[in-house]
Amino acid sequence: MSRTRVLVLNSGSSSVKYQLLDMRGSDRLAMGLVERIGEETSRLRHTPTGGLSREWSGSVPDHDAALKAVAAELAKDGLGLDSPELAAIGHRVVHGGKHFTEPTVVDDAVLAEIERLIPVAPLHNPANLTGIRTAQALRPDLPQVAVFDTAFHTTMPESAARYAIDVETADAHRVRRYGFHGTSHAYVSRETARLLGRAPEDVNVIVLHLGNGASASAVRGGRCVDTSMGLTPLEGLVMGTRSGDMDPAVIFHLMRVGGMSADEIDTLLNKRSGLIGLCGDNDMREIRRRVDAGDERARLAFDIYIHRLKKYIGAYYAVLGRVDAVAFTAGVGENAAPVREAAVAGLEGLGLVVDAGLNAVRADRARLISPADARVAVAVVPTDEEMEIATQTYALVEKER
Ligand code: ADP
Repeated sequence: MSRTRVLVLNSGSSSVKYQLLDMRGSDRLAMGLVERIGEETSRLRHTPTGGLSREWSGSVPDHDAALKAVAAELAKDGLGLDSPELAAIGHRVVHGGKHFTEPTVVDDAVLAEIERLIPVAPLHNPANLTGIRTAQALRPDLPQVAVFDTAFHTTMPESAARYAIDVETADAHRVRRYGFHGTSHAYVSRETARLLGRAPEDVNVIVLHLGNGASASAVRGGRCVDTSMGLTPLEGLVMGTRSGDMDPAVIFHLMRVGGMSADEIDTLLNKRSGLIGLCGDNDMREIRRRVDAGDERARLAFDIYIHRLKKYIGAYYAVLGRVDAVAFTAGVGENAAPVREAAVAGLEGLGLVVDAGLNAVRADRARLISPADARVAVAVVPTDEEMEIATQTYALVEKER
């Protein structure tokens, strides 16, 4: 029997998202989510492709129980994790530091390195590690592959990756710009080249990943040369709940004058800033509804969001020198036509124009929204991080087989 299936796991501190894919035809067989792991009532939602979703509430005390519950649901569809068709398990790992530039088969040394990176990713890497260890216990015979959010950005030159602070201090604490959402930026930049009918090596793309978290990247010939997130996902664009760029002295000011602690400011900037801090909502649908109803605070939040986005388009235009395409992706980028229109408005001088009719079309496929004769293509390219993790995982285990 051919081993062509890959299980993709995205383990958070209290959740596990999963997809089972068959790489023969890049088919999604099933997907689902376990939420509120460790809380009184946990929830599982499982959707087999072509079938009805099943929901289940009950006690899921830890990740081990979560993965067993996932395995039980998959088994009901004849897709059990004991199947000889399963080739590997691919894990999303948020922080791979400087060290991990590619997807990597997990062994003890890899686990130790992911653990060593916990101080720079205290929320994510511990959960990712738990997910890997749990999957190892379930199928010790299978390769477990770590696919890092930071890997695509390791091609950034030092001029983009270093903060302009004392070099010894920075290096002692591994302070540098790592970037995140790399799996999405890699997938979307490649799909954009495909949409243009060109090889990724020949195309320069600005990718705007606008979800609840948001980041921009400048991709030259398939390689990332700059990205907006930094040591942590806090830097860069205005996000759903994160501030993005800010004078770092705001932090000292809030400590010295506002009497706030480091933890309080951390929570303020990561959870109570961005769109939610500015207007009380972080869902772009609701913000647009309020803007259309004449709400001033929602308008200001929208304008600040767009202003920052435009600054990054301009900055990455300058970094790349020549731009072939600007690609919008993730929840906001794929769905919010007013965001795309406003972000590009006034940039005709850079060759950037959006066709109002094309921009208004709703679709799930990659598409151009710029006029046919535009100098720079503007595209909407749905991201698929799970497919990218599965593709990278499968390519690696095939190579090593
Ligand atoms: P995450 O960063 O959580 O993976 P997603 O990429 O799923 O986020 O994006 C979620 C966000 O996408 C929501 O918070 C919402 O602002 C936005 N969004 C989703 N659907 C729409 C829509 N139809 N119109 C405008 N914004 C949308």
